[in-house]
Amino acid sequence: MRIYLSRPHMSGHEQAHLARAFASGFVAPAGPQLDAFEDAVAEYLGPGLHCVALSSGSAALHLALRIAGVGPDDEVWVSSMTFAGGVFPILYQGATPMFFDLAPATWTMDAKLVEDALARAQAENRLPKAIVPTDLYGQSVDLNRFEALAAAYGVSLIVDSAESFGAFYRETRKAGSGGDAAILSFNGNKIITTSGGGMLVTRHEDWARQARFLATQARDQAPHYEHSTYGYNYRLSNISAAVGLGQMEILEERVARRRRVFERYHEQLAPLGVSFMPEAEGDRATRWLTVAVIDPERCGVDREKIRRHLLDHEIEARPVWKPMHLQPLFEGAGYVGAGFDEGLFENGLCLPSGSDMTDAEQDEVIGLISHLIERA
Ligand SMILES: *Cc1c(COP(=O)(O)O)cnc(C)c1O
Repeated sequence: MRIYLSRPHMSGHEQAHLARAFASGFVAPAGPQLDAFEDAVAEYLGPGLHCVALSSGSAALHLALRIAGVGPDDEVWVSSMTFAGGVFPILYQGATPMFFDLAPATWTMDAKLVEDALARAQAENRLPKAIVPTDLYGQSVDLNRFEALAAAYGVSLIVDSAESFGAFYRETRKAGSGGDAAILSFNGNKIITTSGGGMLVTRHEDWARQARFLATQARDQAPHYEHSTYGYNYRLSNISAAVGLGQMEILEERVARRRRVFERYHEQLAPLGVSFMPEAEGDRATRWLTVAVIDPERCGVDREKIRRHLLDHEIEARPVWKPMHLQPLFEGAGYVGAGFDEGLFENGLCLPSGSDMTDAEQDEVIGLISHLIERA
């Protein structure tokens, strides 16, 4: 591959942070860089939040579900169009996922569908234990609405902000600051990376305390190893956190660059009939990945033709997430919606969106797509 979807993009300051970690002797597990990384993310996201750095975003979601008390008899309501790592932890807790469609206006979990389903579920006395809406491709869910619904029905709200770090919700709030907890991912393909890692962000001090306890093998206070419950080895290492410190310095630059990449695609491909994820009114999406919708009627070619053409030129582009209710694993699972996500899966294509992609590289991608559509 010559041009990738989204690659790790270092600031150049990571090695200095790493050198400090080595010099201090805190290579692992915890150390000053880990504390500083949590502080930097908490400071970025806003007041009143507690951050716990973990080995992955999926680990963060797993801990949040466990702390919310999700267990084998529970349902968890979740966006169907998401990455598997945003759903599998529901299975780790033995619970049952119920999948929801996206709102066409924002491409995030449809709050109206959830609202109606909550009213029905309450009448039947089968409310979910938690709701996990996903901030898709860099765009925040409607936080105010989901928070109001969760409060009204006494359901935990865990926002999957793995793809939206750096996004704003309604100008004043940041993605990753919502719900009882939000989860972030610093996997290699995300907007910033620790080479692999995640974060649990919560307004509840008690959730943060429990997360730290469970993430370090649930060790009770004692000189020996004493356990009254079971835990996990989920803590981020101090070395990874040092990389994260270097990345936090340039988060805003990365958002600006990804938004610019989106604008260039939009300017040149929208006139040819390609459409894109709408940006919710008043919000700032990060455009982590630019997602193009190739309607074969309007463009004269289909998504697969474009994807394979790019691949022939060693350019990585991928279909959008396959909705979970269409996955073999979830055959027979509950789904609420009209299939907007199924249509997106049919025609949606994630374009190379890395902040390290040059304008010349992007022009090549745009040129190949334009040529195919103009010829059709
Ligand atoms: C990346 C991602 C995750 C999982 O994060 P990891 O750090 O890879 O475990 C979860 N949900 C969504 C929506 C993601 O994109």
